Amino acid sequence: MSDVQTIGRIFDIQRYSIHDGRGIRTIVFLKGCVLRCRWCCNPESQRYEIETMQTQDGVKTMGRDVTVGEVLETVERDRGYYRRSGGGITLSGGESLCQPKFALALLRESKARGISTAIESMGCAEWETIRELLPYIDQYLLDIKHTNPDKHREFTGKSNELMLENARKIAESGLTELTVRVPVVPTFNASEEEIAGIARFADSLPGVKGIHLLPYHRLGQDKYAGLGREYSMAHIVPPDNELMAKLLSAAQSNCKLHCQIGG
Ligand code: SF4
Repeated sequence: MSDVQTIGRIFDIQRYSIHDGRGIRTIVFLKGCVLRCRWCCNPESQRYEIETMQTQDGVKTMGRDVTVGEVLETVERDRGYYRRSGGGITLSGGESLCQPKFALALLRESKARGISTAIESMGCAEWETIRELLPYIDQYLLDIKHTNPDKHREFTGKSNELMLENARKIAESGLTELTVRVPVVPTFNASEEEIAGIARFADSLPGVKGIHLLPYHRLGQDKYAGLGREYSMAHIVPPDNELMAKLLSAAQSNCKLHCQIGG
């Protein structure tokens, strides 16, 4: 099967994003994730199965099967913006690595058409899967959530060992531009000690472009109700500016990388 005919499952395409890679980007959200982060703002991304979600505008079907060619029809509409801003396509989710054939075909076909590519991912897959994709990824926005395996498991459902190992392999490959992104979540990792630990780890990887601290928000809360699920973070207050400034400073004083708040 050719790349354009390869079928995958997505739940959204968002145009004109400026926070998920360089320039103006079109984000393709792939369905399915191996983690169950308590703070996840896209709970409709987690299950691979197509499901329904109650929204303000009625019941919506989350998930549809599409070909790479169909996705790129939408992506191609914004070529002018990509050219002027240095933007392109970003694969997000969910975890795009859960649909490796589709992700590979989408990235490879985008590159063949001269469209810049990025992926938002926490690197939770067999190394072979990631290695195959790397030559077709211009920017890898890699989530690192915690340095402690037990804490990671408690809040996401899985230990972090494979992800940290893959982070090192991605960096050492030199095949893509790597940026580390940290969701900053109170009661989980929003302490100077933990952010300093992540910064030191990122600094130990070769060639990392920078660290983005992304403050936890509650924008996904209503989606849980819409899916008939409980939102266990309702009592967690998002980090305020003062705390974020402190954490930024902790990151900066523990690495030589460019650190910033937001993507
Ligand atoms: S890795 Fe991302 S998409 Fe998956 S559960 Fe965590 S926050 Fe949600």
